[in-house]
Amino acid sequence: MIAVMSTIREPARDIPVIADCDLVVVGGSCTGVFAAVAAARLGLSVCLVEQFNQFGGTATASMVCVWHALWDTAGKIEITAGLTREVLERLRRRGALYETERTNPHLQFGFVPAELACELDVLVLEHRIRPFLHTRVAAVVRDGRTVSAVVIEDKSGRRAIRTRAVVDASGDADVLRHAGHALHRHAKVQPATTAVMVSGLDEVRRADPGFNLGKTIFDPANPQALRRGFVWGSRVPGVPGQDLIFGTRVHDLDACDADSLTRAEIEGRNQARRIIDLVRAKHPEHPVAMTALPARIGLRESCHAHCLHQLTEAEVLDGVRFPDAIANSCYRVDIHPQGGGGIIFRYLDGREMRQDAADQAGVWGRWRAEQAVDPTYYQVPYRSLVPRDLDNVLVAGRCLDADPGAFGAVRVMVVCNQMGEAAGTAAALALRGGSTMAAVDPQLLRRTLAERGAIML
Ligand SMILES: Cc1cc2nc3c(=O)[nH]c(=O)nc-3n(C[C@H](O)[C@H](O)[C@H](O)COP(=O)(O)OP(=O)(O)OC[C@H]3O[C@@H](n4cnc5c(N)ncnc54)[C@H](O)[C@@H]3O)c2cc1C
Repeated sequence: MIAVMSTIREPARDIPVIADCDLVVVGGSCTGVFAAVAAARLGLSVCLVEQFNQFGGTATASMVCVWHALWDTAGKIEITAGLTREVLERLRRRGALYETERTNPHLQFGFVPAELACELDVLVLEHRIRPFLHTRVAAVVRDGRTVSAVVIEDKSGRRAIRTRAVVDASGDADVLRHAGHALHRHAKVQPATTAVMVSGLDEVRRADPGFNLGKTIFDPANPQALRRGFVWGSRVPGVPGQDLIFGTRVHDLDACDADSLTRAEIEGRNQARRIIDLVRAKHPEHPVAMTALPARIGLRESCHAHCLHQLTEAEVLDGVRFPDAIANSCYRVDIHPQGGGGIIFRYLDGREMRQDAADQAGVWGRWRAEQAVDPTYYQVPYRSLVPRDLDNVLVAGRCLDADPGAFGAVRVMVVCNQMGEAAGTAAALALRGGSTMAAVDPQLLRRTLAERGAIML
């Protein structure tokens, strides 16, 4: 195919303004939905724009159905509640949740992605949030330090929503990019993973108790095997006989580049099918089948906003307390290395585990010498959600400002959920007080979050 280098001039045109609201939330994962709900509960009129057909983001469209601990590493202090707890209770009532013991800081809840998507619909409608599904934010109108409208594209064409404030929960900081705000990418962005739902693995495990999925799919002696990576799996509550497998890895992806994203989707699905074929080749007597693929490849990371504070790995692992803390977590630093195999975990108690490949044992060491008392949780400050050069925009979720190590920890959903809840609350306080996002009083923000069920330590 011939590379096309020329340009065409798109004629200027007027587009209809189809809504005028207090807050637009861009991106409808739980991060975005929680921002919208928190703001609506404080009286704001809210529009919620999501490019897919459902809310839930990575948890639904990419089938990542595990939320981590709501308690500290000792299992003694409850560190997260608010909308995260509320949605978990709703899922529990639907029989769509399983829970491990609270002292397991790495896995606490597994849920049915489809049930989460339905529950988020209910939550959005209950709060009279105006939903826009199948709708992508394609541009913004920026007046100096303010975004005054977002331009959306959907089946109806190109339209605009006028707004007083914006929460960018797009994961990729799309609002900031369209606004020309400074963004940064880590030198080693974590690779993406396509999940695959598989049936028949139970039969394989029963017939071959020594069956090891990692050894099967990453076997260096097998030319068909996947390049060294890392594999983990999850059962979906109430869905017997099915395993969700996360064993693919797509490296060198730029999720903000359309062509790169297209290549990644195809590569992720190709690896997912090879997983099935590798298991079938080893156990041809069992009917192992691919039963579902996600709507979108699971994106761990793309780019980050330049905010008033960049959260660092040292702050996370030392459990630094911030006066403007809006989220708590104890999830470990969890880095899927770009370009490499295996995984790196760093823990609040100073331990570190490095596994070079899924077919090898992890090697334990320490990133910090032993000390008398270790932190049992860490915090995220509000300032890491406040873009430096915009007055009425916040980011929430994986596009926050964090260094690679800190990001490895705070990228998980229980933290993104809290960021969303805080961003929606802060937007309401800013509009109520006529202030910029940066000028929101952190003590008032924390008090308001606590009054509404969040845990502020
Ligand atoms: C394979 C994998 C496994 C993981 N495992 C876990 C785990 O076990 N537990 C855990 O807690 N975390 C896990 N994570 C991390 C976690 O899932 C993500 O970091 C988190 O979900 C990010 O949330 P987010 O809201 O920032 O982004 P996303 O979930 O990506 O949500 C962004 C939303 O914005 C929408 N959007 C983007 N651009 C636009 C636009 N221009 N217009 C309109 N809508 C837009 C997207 O469609 C999406 O719905 C995993 C991640 C991956 C990829």
